[in-house]
Parts: sequence; C-alpha cells; structure tokens
Amino acid sequence: AKRIVLAARPVGEPKPSDFRIEEFAVPTPGQGEVLLRTIWLSLDPYMRGRMSDGPSYAAPVPIDGVMEGEAVSEVAASNNPDFAKGDIVRARTGWQTHAISSGKGLIKVDPKLGPISTSIGVLGMPGMTAYTGLLDIGKPQEGETVVVAGASGAVGSAVGQIAKIKGARAVGIAGGKDKCDYVVKELGFDACIDHRDPDLAAKLKDACPKGIDVYFENVGGAVFEAVFPLLNPFARVPVCGLIAHYNDTEAKPPKWAASMMRATLTKRLTFRGFIVSDFAARHGDFLRDMSAWVREGKVKYKEFVTEGLESAPGAFMGLLKGANFGKQLVRVGQD
Ligand code: NDP
Repeated sequence: AKRIVLAARPVGEPKPSDFRIEEFAVPTPGQGEVLLRTIWLSLDPYMRGRMSDGPSYAAPVPIDGVMEGEAVSEVAASNNPDFAKGDIVRARTGWQTHAISSGKGLIKVDPKLGPISTSIGVLGMPGMTAYTGLLDIGKPQEGETVVVAGASGAVGSAVGQIAKIKGARAVGIAGGKDKCDYVVKELGFDACIDHRDPDLAAKLKDACPKGIDVYFENVGGAVFEAVFPLLNPFARVPVCGLIAHYNDTEAKPPKWAASMMRATLTKRLTFRGFIVSDFAARHGDFLRDMSAWVREGKVKYKEFVTEGLESAPGAFMGLLKGANFGKQLVRVGQD
C-alpha cells in the first residue's frame, strides 16, 4: 500500500519536496472495522489551507501526517455488520491506497445516482457548495446577472448552470480560450471572460450591461477588483473561496478598504462567507435537485483525471494554477 504525507509546510506555492510518498503494509481490519481500497481521490483547493498551520476553520495536517482528502473506495474486507465486502463508500480517508475505518463517517454511495466518481464531484461536496452558496446566499432572481470565476471548474461550472435554471444571466470567468469556449458552448453560460485578459474590467462590464446582482466569489485578486465596481444595489456576494490568495505569504494591506465599505453601505451589499458544512441540513434537497438536473442534462460536468496516487502532488500543484480543466480527480485504483 502507498500513502502521501506532508513532508514540509509550503512557503508560497507548494513544491514536490513538500510531499513524500511512503509504502506500508496493507492493514488488517480489527473488530468492527472495515478495510477500504481507494478508487477515486478528490483533490480540492482547500487542501492548501490544511498544509499551513495558520488560523483556519479546520486543523492543519501534521508534518508526516497523511494528506487529507475525500475518496470513493470499495470495502475490501469487513468486520462491521453495516458494510459488506464490495460496497462502494465515500469517506475522508486521505491520500492513500488503503485505509481502515470504524465505519464512522463512512457514507454508502448509490451507484444508481450516477458514476461513483460524481459522489465527490457534481453530486458531492463541490456540487453542494455551488448549490447552497448560490441558492441560500446568492438567491438569484429571474433576469438578474450572476458572475462566477473558476467557471469551468467543479464549483463554478455548477454555479452558472444553476443560475441559468433559475432564469438568471450567467457570466463566467475562466483561464484561457478553451475553458471559456467550453463554458459558453457546452455549459450554456451567456458569456465567459478570460481573467488573464488585460481588458478584463472593460470586457466584464460589456458582458454585464445591467450590472451584477450576484457575485459568487471563488478567487479574489484581480477578478474581484474588476467585479466590485459593477455590483448593483442590494447585490449578494457568497464568499466561497479566494484561490488567488492561497499561496500568499503575507496579508496585503487593504488599499481600498474605505471605498469598499462606503459602497457596501450606500449600495446595501451583502457579503457572506460560508463553508459548505454550514448547510448540512440542505443535503437532501441538494441531492434530489442536483441528481435530477444531471439526469435531465440541465447540469453538465467535466472530470479531469490523473492516473495513480503518485500523480496527486503534481495534480494538486496544477489545480492551484488552473492546469485542471474540470473537477480534479486521481484514479488511485480500478473500479
Ligand atoms: P476548480 O475546479 O475551480 O479549480 C481551481 C481553479 O481556480 C483553477 O482551475 C483555476 O481556473 C482557478 N484559479 C486559480 N488561480 C486563479 C486566479 N488567480 N484567478 C482566477 N482563477 C484562478 O476548484 P473548485 O471548484 O474545487 O473550487 C473553486 C473555489 O471554491 C476555490 O476557491 C475553493 O477553495 C472554493 N471552495 C469552497 C468551499 C467552501 O465550503 N467554502 C468548498 C469547495 C470549494 P482557471 O484556469 O479558470 O483560472
């Protein structure tokens, strides 16, 4: 068996030497335990936060600890009456090929809802983040304009498509022409702009002739600076992620904090940060709606797969820079 541990806390961008691959004997499940064989590992931007020991909503991975993450696994052996050999489950077992579980936190995956990988993608945590952040905080109304960056990614792609289902105008922001073409032509957004375009602010303004009513914040940085002046009175900003800043080594002084606060007051803006687990009570609604939308072709998704556990560090470093085109997954074992 193999696992990837945190070898060092990154300073700025993570680098290969911050990770270490180790071999270990496949463990034997004890009384009440199951042995899990990992099939799919999800890589997600929040893992950058777990690599640092600064203040956060969750504890960091310890040095030499297995990198955290959610995976879809097969029950390879079971001493737990609730799980049978061959069951497909998802759990936070981390970056490793095998894991032991007491059964706590283990969730059975219903293969009837879709391919099992979707339980950590569009029908899992990223999909739920899009659904709750947009509907419970963003509250898009018919005819309003919703803007989201990372528009070809796991969360952003679902945000724009749900906005369309609710009758809003969806404007995406993504890195490069291929991603923008996909977002408009395949996902049905009304427009998509490359965030590396030097005319980002002007092009965004053209794409949002009636201003912005909901800005689903995934990135921060230059994108936020282009969005902010276009926010309409009573606009809502679900603050979901700030990927442009995850590798920052120091807090940047708030250059325009005063004008931002003035606009928040005069335009009566709502900014609300959230972590998807805040909305755990909405999981049933999410799964019902999202699985129906996926089945009906109203929400499409794209997976970006790298092969083998060894590929995880490189794939994760790429994810922070836009090397992924779709939900980043690692195929750790065969289905
Ligand atoms: P994605 O699949 O969207 O992958 C990350 C993408 O971020 C990259 O592909 C890249 O896309 C984009 N990106 C990276 N740097 C920048 C930058 N400087 N400016 C603009 N875009 C950038 O990841 P997810 O969908 O999994 O996550 C999206 C966001 O949602 C993240 O911020 C994440 O932390 C957050 N999140 C928050 C949760 C919560 O509970 N609050 C839960 C899940 C996710 P491109 O090539 O288009 O630039």
